[in-house]
Amino acid sequence: MCWRKPRILLNHSWHTLSGSEVAQLLESDTELGLPFNEATNRQRRYGSNELVSREKTSSWRRFLQQFQQPVQYILLVAGTVTALFKEVVDAGVIFAVAVGNALIGFIQEARAENAIAALAEVVTTEATVIRDDEKARISSRELVPGDLIVLATGDRVPADIRLTEAFDLQIDESGLTGESLPVDKTTEPLAPETLLPERTNMAYSGSLVTAGQGRGFVVAIGNQTETGRVAQLMQESTNLMTPLARRIQRFSRTLLYFVLGMAALAFAVGAVRSGYAWVETFKSAVALAVSAVPEGLPAIVTITLAIGVSRMAKRHAIVRKLPAVETLGSTTVICSDKTGTLTKNQMTVQEVYAGGRHYTVSGTGYDFEGAISLNDQMIELNTSPALRDCLLAGLLCNDSHLQQEDGQWEVVGDPTEGALLGAAHKAGLDREVLEEEIPRLDVLPFDSKLQYMATLHQDQSNRVIYAKGSVEALLTHCQFWVNGQGEKAPMDLDAVRQQADDTAGKGLRVLAFAKKPVAPDQETIEPDDLNQGLIFLGLQGMIDPPRPEAIEAVRACKMAGIQVKMITGDHPITAVAIARTIGLGQTATAFTGQELAQMEPQELANAVENTDVFARVAPEQKLRLVEALQAKGEIVAMTGDGVNDAPALSQADIGVAMGMGTEVAKEAADMVLTDNNFASIAAAVEEGRTAYRNIRRAIGFILPISGGESLTILMGTLVSTVLPILPVQVLWVNMVSAIALSLPLAFEPKSERAMQQPPRNPNEPLLSGRLGLRILVISVWNAIATFGTFEWMMRTTGDVDVARTVAINVLVSSEIFYLLSICRLIPSLVANLWGQQKTISYAPAIGIGTLVILQVLFSQWSLMNELFDTAPLSPAQGLFILALGLPVILWALILQQFDPIN
Ligand code: ADP
Ligand code: MG
Repeated sequence: MCWRKPRILLNHSWHTLSGSEVAQLLESDTELGLPFNEATNRQRRYGSNELVSREKTSSWRRFLQQFQQPVQYILLVAGTVTALFKEVVDAGVIFAVAVGNALIGFIQEARAENAIAALAEVVTTEATVIRDDEKARISSRELVPGDLIVLATGDRVPADIRLTEAFDLQIDESGLTGESLPVDKTTEPLAPETLLPERTNMAYSGSLVTAGQGRGFVVAIGNQTETGRVAQLMQESTNLMTPLARRIQRFSRTLLYFVLGMAALAFAVGAVRSGYAWVETFKSAVALAVSAVPEGLPAIVTITLAIGVSRMAKRHAIVRKLPAVETLGSTTVICSDKTGTLTKNQMTVQEVYAGGRHYTVSGTGYDFEGAISLNDQMIELNTSPALRDCLLAGLLCNDSHLQQEDGQWEVVGDPTEGALLGAAHKAGLDREVLEEEIPRLDVLPFDSKLQYMATLHQDQSNRVIYAKGSVEALLTHCQFWVNGQGEKAPMDLDAVRQQADDTAGKGLRVLAFAKKPVAPDQETIEPDDLNQGLIFLGLQGMIDPPRPEAIEAVRACKMAGIQVKMITGDHPITAVAIARTIGLGQTATAFTGQELAQMEPQELANAVENTDVFARVAPEQKLRLVEALQAKGEIVAMTGDGVNDAPALSQADIGVAMGMGTEVAKEAADMVLTDNNFASIAAAVEEGRTAYRNIRRAIGFILPISGGESLTILMGTLVSTVLPILPVQVLWVNMVSAIALSLPLAFEPKSERAMQQPPRNPNEPLLSGRLGLRILVISVWNAIATFGTFEWMMRTTGDVDVARTVAINVLVSSEIFYLLSICRLIPSLVANLWGQQKTISYAPAIGIGTLVILQVLFSQWSLMNELFDTAPLSPAQGLFILALGLPVILWALILQQFDPIN
């Protein structure tokens, strides 16, 4: 049977209808949502909820854009003039190089973009949907029209939705309407002529929930959504320009002016010296110009960064913005959340304090195995009324639930709350029965700023508020407690405080519980209700074991000169105890958010430098921390997952969001961790450092080739009558051999040294003194070898083609040995022979193999001889070429002392 497609789904003024009308038209239900099979049907019918992008810039345009670069201008001009001189073959080669250049740029740009787009896919948006009366988190791609959606603070609206419930719901629609302030949402029908920005009963796909909660029906998906219709919104451009790439571009431009100056000079000198042989002198000027420009460099930089991105992805760090790869490498401070990032966020209640007694809870995880005992005696709940009340509060004032997956109990929701369910269950409390008996009427959800959560319940003919939260947040509002006999009595505040500190000192997270009887007609809870009259019920202390990998990673960071700071909403005593087990903050002090807030800027600056643990920090204070650290010149990575974390994440040099975190946080972040693990941040830093190192290595490799060539030609124009190497030959070397040899450097594996050195200074110039020295020395050597060979061959053979061919091959041979001395291929092979397990990249071997074949063709094949004016060589000449390549190893070894490039 074919499902009847309601016509109205195509387009409707949903905002004018009432909630029930909408439900009816969509054949859905305000409480139950769609039936499962209906959802599956509609999925088949309407396809997936995705924006299918139309062709962005046409491929042709993108290809032509590749010609808008200085290098390409030089080639095009040189080619045209060469053609005018009727040097057809040469002109053809030069144009071919220009086209080849454009093609390489085009292909690798497309690949880098695809790679980043694919990564964005990994971080899929999830949505909470109600189907067949069951709440589930599903990929927002699977939504269909008619689905009943639950929106919560921090969610990204997954489709166009007609709201049917809205509690303080605010949505940021700036992406769609340009309005920067969040919009308050309602559910009432609106007049038909209401414009899109004023349709307050609609939530539009792609916008972000900044506060409150809501529900509503999906009325449009994919390209049918308002966002999908606004075409330009879909062209989310992935920007490939990074600060480094920009610096290299600027460097190339400077180089270009320099080159043009030199070429003009060579032209003048050559013209005078050769008696105004225009064609010859022009050739040398062109040769000089094309030789000095490192054609392959921009490609290598982008490729290296793209490889860094994919390596990070393998280690659970998804980079959202390419520049982050570089910045990660220079990170000096990582500010990390404690709960879930440094610890496992697998909470288990171990201690309960109620009615003045101290109970122990056994069992780990969310298993229901375990029991509660007092002084090693099993307890009976009926004889411990205070304990029962305390556990009951934890059970009822709770938004999480446990569910079994592959035989393992897992918590859906906040693990802190999951732990409370476990404790209550171990004592024999049955949640389903109790929720029937004492139903919930209203809730004040947990807010890390208020640090508590409260619920209002009907208990027979009475009404009562249950609250749970941090000790500080609740204790000051309690004058009474439930004593050992289950009666209301004046509280022993000091005893409770002492107990809380003792529990926290063991590294346990402590929650306090309280209740308050209220008038039988009270319908809702306000924060004011909790200001007085609370009756203290007890404390529960839960363990959250540190992640073993995090301990390891913290040590690695310290060795790499990176400070690690723990930021948590938890109690200072708990925080310090955990910090110690993780290897942080041996000094055993922690600043609290409140202390930070009262500090003068100078004091704050010192505090952030010298302290590793910050406790009871509200998300808003994270921003201050980041700013204070940055003012000290630090490059800061900061983690976060909530809506309120977003400002700190955008302010940080590297904002790190959690894969499970809110969409708002992910949006603000530069990087998303798929496993929420601190160790993945350290891994990303390591890969960032490796990428920078590989780029630096590629620069140190490519520039001496260009340098050697230009110096050779310069010497030629000054002292010789013929050019030692021709423009087309230079282009061959720069395009073919330089790329075959430098590309492998992008694949170089990380070295152990990457994390044994302090972070790089972000202001360090690209061509630092040490790198400059390296480039100079190798350039000069290359020039001496090439020009010397040419002159010597001219004298001994008198054949200019042979002399040029040998000279070019000597340059290439020298490059091959230089590559071997700076890549890690040989050291790693040797280490593996000695039984060590090292990652080896065979890319250099492949590059060299390919290049040798190409060079043989270049020299020996008659067609190439024709194109490039080369001449076949004898085996003896081949050996000579090999031998002259060797000395560069010596230079490389000496330079390694000044500039450890490996
Ligand atoms: P963290 O940075 O460790 O995640 P939070 O801001 O989540 O810190 O929590 C701060 C404090 O608030 C905790 O120490 C605890 O006392 C209390 N708390 C945490 N989660 C809840 C919750 N779901 N309900 C009530 N109180 C909570
Ligand atoms: Mg938390």
